[in-house]
Amino acid sequence: MEKTPQIKPWIADIHAYVPGRATGSDGKVLTKLSANENPLGCSEDALAVLAAGHEPARYPDPDAANLRAVLGELHGLDPARIVCGTGSDELLNLAAQAFAGPGDEVLFPRYSFSVYPIAARRCGADPVEAEDADYGADVDALLAAVTDRTRVVFIANPNNPTGSYLPPREIERLHAGLRGDILLVLDQAYAEYLEDAEAAHALALAERTQNVLVTRTFSKIYGLAGERIGWGYGAPPLVDALNRIRGPFNVTQSGQRAAIAAARDTGFIDRSREHNANERTRFAQRMAALGNHGIRPLPSEANFVLVLFEGELSAGDALHGLAERGYAVRHLPSQGLGHGLRITIGTAEDMDAIAAAIAEMAGRHPAG
Ligand code: PMP
Repeated sequence: MEKTPQIKPWIADIHAYVPGRATGSDGKVLTKLSANENPLGCSEDALAVLAAGHEPARYPDPDAANLRAVLGELHGLDPARIVCGTGSDELLNLAAQAFAGPGDEVLFPRYSFSVYPIAARRCGADPVEAEDADYGADVDALLAAVTDRTRVVFIANPNNPTGSYLPPREIERLHAGLRGDILLVLDQAYAEYLEDAEAAHALALAERTQNVLVTRTFSKIYGLAGERIGWGYGAPPLVDALNRIRGPFNVTQSGQRAAIAAARDTGFIDRSREHNANERTRFAQRMAALGNHGIRPLPSEANFVLVLFEGELSAGDALHGLAERGYAVRHLPSQGLGHGLRITIGTAEDMDAIAAAIAEMAGRHPAG
């Protein structure tokens, strides 16, 4: 038999990441509320920077020095402790790769971001899921799941896909219960949807400890998902480890410039946060009103709501019904959430249309 390259068994075990789609099963283009993007787009200042053009023949600044300086200034951080990535996704993978390997365990709560098991397996480590507490992270369950082999703990806070949130005192309790040789990654892709003081807590914890890495992104509230810009903050040895293995030119020149403009446009961030909070409350109330049909919105601190369908109307049927009406939302059966739909907060019109459609579909079934 002819010899062929043999995939490593731990890579063969990976289920590839399933991205949120913008088309129905028939290929029809839909309004995309399946990837937690900002329905208001991005800052006009960032758009102007992108439109102004750049020098594609030149490599970008490998150290993203200007972007790190601006982030340091805005958040009161030492730029030397910041590392930028091709989205925060790259940084999550690098964190696992730098601190875990074959025989080690990477721990995270059940129903958390689907990149964590991929990041663990990519470096040959074993992904371990701790039990949830009504779809949220459970600190006691996480601490009980720690073993001698645990090297990295991932917490998305706020969490995707549930929207759940652990307040600072719970994060402190988790950190206090972990051995010093375990890296705690606080994935804050949705931090900007929190109150400023809550969002700042993770950065402050990373500032005063040796084993906490915070990751943030320009993909969500900043509306720059297509530019692929993330950043991490932690103690110098952590940042040094990530710098050794990241792509040398991992953030494009246009991405670095757009991120600087977006970071400075606090007006756009405030408007986006306010829009999200208003529409999320309105939508969640309308879903909660369908409780007698077994429909339950989980409390969310992010820019989406996970709606559970535990009555006659199934999540799968609701998914199809929404697609027929022009909307793509996220069904996650592969994450044990076949009974839920994760719906990104869109415009007021989108949310009205989706809430009305779900109410209409539920109304066709007798209430329980
Ligand atoms: N963390 C969480 C919790 C997310 O939901 C996402 C995006 N889906 C990311 C990280 C990665 O985002 P990006 O790579 O675009 O920064």
